[in-house]
Amino acid sequence: MAVQTVASTYDTPSTPRPFGPAAALSCRECGTRFPLSPIFACQECFGPLEVAYDLPLGDPEGLRRRIEAGPTSIWRYAPLLPVPADLADRPNLNPGWTKLVKADNLARELGITGGLYVKDDSGNPTHSFKDRVVAIALEAARTFGLTTLSCSSTGNLAGAVGAAAARAGLRSCVFIPHDLEAGKVVMAAVYGGQLVGIEGSYDDVNRFCSELIGDPIGEGWGFVNVNLRPYYGEGSKTLAYEIAEQLGWRLPDNLVIPIASGSQLTKIDKGLQELIKLGLVEDKPYKIYGAQAEGCSPVSAAFKAGRDVVRPVKPDTIAKSLAIGNPADGPYVLDITRRTGGAIEDVDDAQIVDAIKLLARTEGIFGETAGGVTVGVLRKLIETGQLDPAAETVVLNTGDGLKTLDAVAPTTGPTAVIRPTVAAFREAGLA
Ligand SMILES: *Cc1c(COP(=O)(O)O)cnc(C)c1O
Ligand SMILES: [Zn+2]
Repeated sequence: MAVQTVASTYDTPSTPRPFGPAAALSCRECGTRFPLSPIFACQECFGPLEVAYDLPLGDPEGLRRRIEAGPTSIWRYAPLLPVPADLADRPNLNPGWTKLVKADNLARELGITGGLYVKDDSGNPTHSFKDRVVAIALEAARTFGLTTLSCSSTGNLAGAVGAAAARAGLRSCVFIPHDLEAGKVVMAAVYGGQLVGIEGSYDDVNRFCSELIGDPIGEGWGFVNVNLRPYYGEGSKTLAYEIAEQLGWRLPDNLVIPIASGSQLTKIDKGLQELIKLGLVEDKPYKIYGAQAEGCSPVSAAFKAGRDVVRPVKPDTIAKSLAIGNPADGPYVLDITRRTGGAIEDVDDAQIVDAIKLLARTEGIFGETAGGVTVGVLRKLIETGQLDPAAETVVLNTGDGLKTLDAVAPTTGPTAVIRPTVAAFREAGLA
């Protein structure tokens, strides 16, 4: 099954490349290459597979112009993604190109003097960063002729898959832990596909999905984060591309990124490295910081203990979108944060709620619990001297607060409830 040679037909008009500049799947551990197909583990060593490219090197100015003339979605970066060139013609949610908000009020509050930005991915079509990864996996599913789109999800992914399948006219069947937030359950169900609650944690859901793939039932199914995971992961690179382009084609000093499975953090680093290799940005050091909830912090714990091995935990946190106790990309996250000189921190539920409110109060951005985790961790990193406040920092908000109302509802409500008279307003001390 391993291939040594990969046909180099890129840019030959007579031979369409369904995966654009992607050349093969390659093993992260041993480097063995495989044809682009719906597989996710190396057949030599069981290591995870990722997409390898023939990147369009040699003409950074031309590439930059081509990107800037592209659509205001992740598809402006199609020359760097495993997708066909005619992608705009296919029904999809066109995610991405979300706002990079200069967060001066939050910076002042946190004592940051080097500049602070919030990359606000709540602006995606289903209000989380997951639309990016699903859009790439959807294209792979179509190319492989898969007819059911599926996933194991901590909530946001289920909604993104349901919506993408609806737009593309595919069947969807998604799996979530049964006890998720109401906002996430409704979002996952409203698009009309099948939604199945599993009695167990996300890690149980994931194990169940792996079993389903091996069963005849799973034939023709594309599990975006399991058998399509190599393609799915590439969607996160677009966060790196957008941040650099929105800063005027340059890299920030620090990035604070949430960790669930660790895929997003890993692929943002891959995207930044590609930008440097392509000559689209100047090569300069950057530090990647990882953020976890204390109630599910296996990668943070390994980082602090100086371990290379991530020990699985049983999650117990309000940050359910990040509640993966056995993160697949944990070891790579440790490598990247250590290599770049960053760190990994965690915050408890009360700090998450405080940080959600801080971001809302200072910048008018209502993030979900994952946003509370990154902003809370940013604050902790500054307080503990691990992040230089004189450096330029980008912090990610990866989802919308409306999906996790339960986190703030008990401590957030009307200032007062009064009769509809001016006298009542005055009496309540509000004037
Ligand atoms: C899925 C998700 C992430 C990151 O997940 P990874 O598995 O680490 O890629 C971050 N934030 C939110 C809101 C998510 O739903
Ligand atoms: Zn291998």
